[in-house]
Amino acid sequence: MEKSAQPAPPPVPLNVPVADSHTHIDMQDATVAQTVAAAAAVGVTTLVQVGCDLERSRWSAQVAAEHDAVWAAVALHPNEAPRLEREGGRKALDAALEEIAELAARPEVLAVGESGLDHFRTGEEGREAQRYSFRRHIETAKRLGKALVIHDRDAHEDVLRVLEEEGAPERTVFHCFSGDAGMARVCAANGWFMSFAGNVTFKNARPLREALAAAPPELLLVETDAPFLTPAPYRGRPNAPYMIPYTLRAMAEVKGLDEDVLAEHVAANTARAFGY
Ligand SMILES: [Zn+2]
Ligand SMILES: [Zn+2]
Repeated sequence: MEKSAQPAPPPVPLNVPVADSHTHIDMQDATVAQTVAAAAAVGVTTLVQVGCDLERSRWSAQVAAEHDAVWAAVALHPNEAPRLEREGGRKALDAALEEIAELAARPEVLAVGESGLDHFRTGEEGREAQRYSFRRHIETAKRLGKALVIHDRDAHEDVLRVLEEEGAPERTVFHCFSGDAGMARVCAANGWFMSFAGNVTFKNARPLREALAAAPPELLLVETDAPFLTPAPYRGRPNAPYMIPYTLRAMAEVKGLDEDVLAEHVAANTARAFGY
C-alpha cells in the first residue's frame, strides 16, 4: 500500500446496512470516530475491530467499550505467538494468553481471534508455538462462549485438523476466507462462517470466487481486513471499512443475488456469528 495514495471515493451507500466483520482500525490513518462515520455514511454500521497482539487487543476492547458501532476481537496473531515465545519463552507466551483470556471475557469483546495458522510468514521453527497458541485460543473461546475468528494462511489442512482435534467453538469464522470450493463445502458442512475480503475481487482470484459460489448465503460474511486487501478497482489505495460496499457488490454478482438480498443475509449472519 502506497502511503501517499489518495483514498478511493466513497461507494454508493448500501440500502441494507451491514457489518465489516474484520478490520484493523489501529493500522489505518483515520481516527476511530472518522472511520466509524465514513463507514456509517455508506451503510456499514457495525465494525469488528481485531487486535493482533496484547497491546492492540487492550486498545480494541477499549475502543469497543467507547463506540456503540464497534465490537472487539482479541488474540495473539499466529505470527505474534512465535515471536513472543522466541523472545520470552513459553512463559511469556502463556502470560500473554492469560491476559487475552481476561480481555476476551469483557462484554464488548465478542470474539477470540484472529488466531490460527500462518505457514506463509512463520517457518517450521515457529509452528509449534503457533499451534499451541491456536489451541489455547480455541479453548478460551469455548470456555467463554465467544466466537472464534480464524486466520488461515497457506495452512488449510492443518487448521482443519487442529479444529477437529480440539472441537470447534459453536460459532467459528474463517476470516479472509482463502480456501477453494472443496474447503467451502467442508466449512458449510460444519456450519462455519466464511468471511470474504477484497481479494475476492482480484482478477486472479477465480478459485476464491468458486469457493464463494459454493458457500451457502446463510454462512457468508464480508470484511475489509483493512488496511490490507483493498478491493478492485482501487488496489494500491488505502483500505478502510467504508470500502465494504465494493466487495459486497462483487460478491452479489458472483452469487447471482440481488445486492440487498445478500446484504440482508450478511447482516443477519454477522450478528449471529458474533452474538450481538
Ligand atoms: Zn488474518
Ligand atoms: Zn486481520
